[in-house]
This record gives sequence, C-alpha cells and structure tokens, in this order.
Amino acid sequence: MAWAGHPVELRYAPVRVECACAHCDAAPVEMVAWADPYQRRTRRLQQRLAVSAASMPVMHIAAIHGLSWLTVRRAEGRAIDGAIGEAL
Ligand SMILES: [Zn+2]
Repeated sequence: MAWAGHPVELRYAPVRVECACAHCDAAPVEMVAWADPYQRRTRRLQQRLAVSAASMPVMHIAAIHGLSWLTVRRAEGRAIDGAIGEAL
C-alpha cells in the first residue's frame, strides 16, 4: 500500500519457535504490533481494504491493490465481524 505516494512492500519473517517439551506439538509464531494473528497483511492495509469495500466493488479494490477478490472479501468480513463483536 502506498505511503505518501510511494509504493511500499513490507517483508518480514516472524520468529517461529518449536516447543521441545514432550506434551505438545506447539509451534508458536511471534506476534507483531502491526498485524493481527495469522494475517499476512498489515492492520493498516486490512482496514483500508474494508473501508474501500464500503464504497466500491470488491473486484475494483482487488485490482487497485493487486490482490485477489477473496483477500479483499475476507478483510471486509473481518471488519464486519469485528464491528459486530464490539456492538454486542
Ligand atoms: Zn510444549
């Protein structure tokens, strides 16, 4: 997503840890402040996609950002689920 008119691509490999205990097969992954757990895109981009989806077709947003239709649709769905969760 562009920042101040400049295209920005963030590449980051979160730290993964393999538990060595005999009780589980856990492989926790580092949490980062700028992305939700299990998400591959920043919160900022997820929010931008969801806000854009309120005013234009999902296919249009996907083309603008070079993402799949499903990625945009999921960002929209997560925002709606979050808004509903906050309202309850
Ligand atoms: Zn363990």
